[in-house]
Amino acid sequence: MSEGPSYGFDTLQVHAGARPDPATGARQTPIYQTTAYVFRDADHAAALFNLQEVGYIYSRLTNPTVAVLAERIATLEGGVGGVCCSSGHAAQIMALFPLMGPGRNVVASTRLYGGTITQFSQTIRRFGWSAKFVDFDDLDAVKAAIDEDTRAIFCEAIANPGGYITDLDAIAGVADAAGLPLIVDNTSATPYLCRPIEHGATLVVHSTTKYLTGNGTVTGGAIVDSGRFDWSASGKFPSLSDPEPAYHGLKFHETFGPLAFTFHGIAIGLRDLGMTMNPQAAHYTLMGIETLSLRMQRHVENAVRVAEWLEQHPKVARVTYAGLPSSPYNDRVARICPKGAGALFTFALKDGYEACVKFVDSVNLFSHVANLGDTRSLIIHPASTTHRQLSEAQQVAAGAAPDTLRVSIGIEDAADIIADLDQALARV
Ligand SMILES: *Cc1c(COP(=O)(O)O)cnc(C)c1O
Repeated sequence: MSEGPSYGFDTLQVHAGARPDPATGARQTPIYQTTAYVFRDADHAAALFNLQEVGYIYSRLTNPTVAVLAERIATLEGGVGGVCCSSGHAAQIMALFPLMGPGRNVVASTRLYGGTITQFSQTIRRFGWSAKFVDFDDLDAVKAAIDEDTRAIFCEAIANPGGYITDLDAIAGVADAAGLPLIVDNTSATPYLCRPIEHGATLVVHSTTKYLTGNGTVTGGAIVDSGRFDWSASGKFPSLSDPEPAYHGLKFHETFGPLAFTFHGIAIGLRDLGMTMNPQAAHYTLMGIETLSLRMQRHVENAVRVAEWLEQHPKVARVTYAGLPSSPYNDRVARICPKGAGALFTFALKDGYEACVKFVDSVNLFSHVANLGDTRSLIIHPASTTHRQLSEAQQVAAGAAPDTLRVSIGIEDAADIIADLDQALARV
């Protein structure tokens, strides 16, 4: 797409980052299934390796198909640059990598995707990093958790499970006052429902595996940089502000300005961690992202109808969906994600654990899987699957109590989704 008027979201989701293929005129973005790229001559090769010229060297670092997707996601989020990688969890490591170091910590919300809690509480310790989990509704507790070694604040815009919306403006205020970057996982909301950078986020991370691809075909992740953080101000981010020995003492922030984080993500992150997205995966995600707004509208519309129906069912104890008038997060929906509270929520059955197990075995249209954000309606009973290693108290704290089911409402006919839940409820 050439520089033109400032296009709307629906136009950008189809066009941003893409132009007819310069070699063939192909209108759809080709899958550049290649590992390496021929240098024009020795000088060209040297300039590329010195980061003096931008171009393609080797697909662990950059690939033209993947680059279109990175630019599209960055544009939809309102950022200056983006890096794609192999999964959402890879994106989280890639986002933290330039900021952290041995002894450093990230202050993270207690309300996070289960896999992220495991990654942050266990695996990152192997790098000497740690996470401090805090209730992000308690701003004083967030402030109190920040110490000299804190290098980032991390939360999700719409947190799963449990119908929770983070007050991004308030958390961004705390991060700004402490001179720290705010990283927001925007997977459950997508940039159609929420644009965290407009609420003060420094970096946005995604599992493109979910709604951005939307069809359940490939895993992927992305990191988008707002371009607004001053990486040199505090001396706390030497990877970005200080001379980089692997590039003859180049300083990323001084050299690349607002694109420092993006260039570092490619030139150091992808080069040395190798968590690269492959061009086939980028292709599937590009196919999906073209219809993101249309799918999200239907996801939200269906989620509201299903949640309202469940809330009045005699066998249902409660429904936690921020899109319901009964949710304590209504005011945040209006401010943070005014087009809707997403399509993930939990509901509890009065008859508890056994009824939930029976329920997941009784659904027909719903698929019982450990995934979310598919066009298909999905269900899982966290206490007997994803959260079964936790104690009951931990399950309750995570919004995954033994009586609780999590659904990801698809884009099928709402009447068919409700009919499937109705027949399954009749069997428990
Ligand atoms: C799925 C998910 C992740 C992890 O993404 P993968 O692509 O599975 O690695 C992280 N955050 C959220 C909110 C998710 O839903």
